[in-house]
Amino acid sequence: MNADALPKALAARLAKLGIHAPFDLVLHLPLRYEDETRLTPLNAAPAGAPVLVEVRVARAEVVYRPRRQLVVHTQGDAGPLALRFFNFYPSQLKQFQRATASDLVVRAYGEVRNGWAGAEMAHPRYRIVHAGEPLSQSLTPVYPTTAGLAQATLRKLILNALEKLPLDDTLPQSVRERYALGPFDAAVRTLHLPPPGANIAGLAERTHPAWRRVKFDELLAQQLSMHLEHRARRARRAPSFPGDGALTRRFLAALPFRLTHAQERCLAEIRRDLGERHPMQRLLQGDVGSGKTILAAIGCLAAVDANWQAAVMAPTELLAEQHQRKFSEWLAPLGVRTAWLHGALARREKRAAIEAIESGEAQIAIGTHALFQQGVEFAQLGLAVVDEQHRFGVQQRLMLRKKGEAVKDGLVPHQLMMSATPIPRTLSMTYYADLEVSTIDEMPPGREPVKTRLVAGARRGEVLSRIREACRSGQQAYWICPLVEESDKLELQAALEAHAELKAELPELSVGLLHGRMAPPEKTEVMRDFAAGRIQLLVSTTVIEVGVDVPNASLMVIEHAERFGLAQLHQLRGRVGRGAAESVCILLYRHPLSEGARARLKVIFETTDGFEVARQDLLLRGPGEYLGERQSGAPLLRFADLERDQAIIGAAREAAAGLLEKHPGAARAHVERWLSARQDLGSA
Ligand code: ADP
Ligand code: MG
Repeated sequence: MNADALPKALAARLAKLGIHAPFDLVLHLPLRYEDETRLTPLNAAPAGAPVLVEVRVARAEVVYRPRRQLVVHTQGDAGPLALRFFNFYPSQLKQFQRATASDLVVRAYGEVRNGWAGAEMAHPRYRIVHAGEPLSQSLTPVYPTTAGLAQATLRKLILNALEKLPLDDTLPQSVRERYALGPFDAAVRTLHLPPPGANIAGLAERTHPAWRRVKFDELLAQQLSMHLEHRARRARRAPSFPGDGALTRRFLAALPFRLTHAQERCLAEIRRDLGERHPMQRLLQGDVGSGKTILAAIGCLAAVDANWQAAVMAPTELLAEQHQRKFSEWLAPLGVRTAWLHGALARREKRAAIEAIESGEAQIAIGTHALFQQGVEFAQLGLAVVDEQHRFGVQQRLMLRKKGEAVKDGLVPHQLMMSATPIPRTLSMTYYADLEVSTIDEMPPGREPVKTRLVAGARRGEVLSRIREACRSGQQAYWICPLVEESDKLELQAALEAHAELKAELPELSVGLLHGRMAPPEKTEVMRDFAAGRIQLLVSTTVIEVGVDVPNASLMVIEHAERFGLAQLHQLRGRVGRGAAESVCILLYRHPLSEGARARLKVIFETTDGFEVARQDLLLRGPGEYLGERQSGAPLLRFADLERDQAIIGAAREAAAGLLEKHPGAARAHVERWLSARQDLGSA
């Protein structure tokens, strides 16, 4: 297929299916198959399953009762069969009328049902053929398609591609033997045109050896590209930060608390990487509240000690501001100069911040992605920290990564990504395979797990009493307003209403309001007031979802919890349980609950372990959404399933290393075949 050779409309429809290049047709695999390799006698047709039958046309007519339809009365081997078509062209009537000739038969594929007037088949797929014409030699593939693109057209294009394109194997014989894989061309041919007698169950379940080969190839390509990227990174050079400078030593000697063992271990890993001469690419993961920020601060100090700059980036202004506050509190006493930059700063402040960053006056720059967007040139960036990295979209992550790799004197900065949404093992073996991962798997001492309560919305009164009680004993609370997917405006309105209502219902409390439409200085002020205890109940939209840290808040109420995603609920719940007081998260829900909502509430009720939540989230949503596929538009894995195909993932991982070492040419050819268009995505 040459893009120019296809009509534009057809090319556009193919593009919708992700088919851009000829080889994409080969990898456009069937959803399922229909068996037209054998005829079923009418009286042997099973209930509820489609079959191919052969009948002779006796008479065709259009009737109007009970509704307009084309009825073709036919005679089969074991009696009459009526074919009914509710949507039809006038030409079809004629076609069937002509088909009464004695040498013609109709082969119809569909379900045989017993209607009030005898056996019938509704809108079957059919062909009119000469009696005795041979049957199809293979199962008929049914492809995923799109409006305006007929199965038959797609099928023809694919068969043509299978015939014309070289389907040579990218894997050497030795590799195929070692992993018990059949040849590539046989695998794709089997999947497109399974021979009669093929193991249909295996094809449908995607466990057939042909599927295994394709999945293996897909996963192998992904592993290989990760390896290649990893290698390219190892080949680059970065400034080395020994991490034993004066600032680091002074800070470590006067830490505000004692690091947990897990923090110590992760810190050692980070410091070791920073001491090396090639760029670190490390993901620091740890559940909400496990204490990642302080490790980032220590990393930044190592850079500053070596006279390099560090940047700390957060997905929201609120969180950036909180980091700014924390970093100042921790580092200003050491004389470290920080700059704060985000999209909503007044021009003068913005200019001042940018100047400080560009001159090197600012040793640590803290901000939103504005840090890398507004044409800011760091004087000497040595370390880029990205907090809550999963909150950035795939494109943004790619951009950050590229920007973060700007070379200064031939040196590339180190990168530390942080995430409170732990990456399940299957994902860390695939999409994040080129990242080093450090995991804080322990909470700071004295933390009680948050108690989660599911409460029907009708019991609002009881919830208000709990809030009163908590605040009377000196604690604070959050009230999260319902998420309104369709509209920011409605969401804002809901927040304003909730705020007004709660103020009226709880006149003795100071009730604050926070939402995304507020100007950043206002947000900052509200957050400061809440952190300082001047606000007792904070009514908020999900702007506080990630990162916000106010240890005295011990009660969280989430309205319409059924509307939130699992990761979101876990993050929100993580805003409490950060201090010594026992914390409670109340999930208010309203009927009717969809099946998905019920499943999410059950998970969040049953577990407080972020890893388990992430695993369940992956199961419920699939990896694409988990990784932000919706932002990127391209599916990340098309054939392999991260949960079901773990054994193949393991094999592909092992094979990737061996292939690169012994058959580098084959490795490149393989990556090219599979990932030409998608290469960037996996490691974003
Ligand atoms: P997260 O990992 O969710 O980003 P933070 O870094 O915000 O968590 O830390 C959560 C809270 O725990 C903060 O108030 C932080 O100062 C505190 N903290 C972090 N480490 C420890 C520790 N080892 N002991 C006690 N408190 C800690
Ligand atoms: Mg954090």
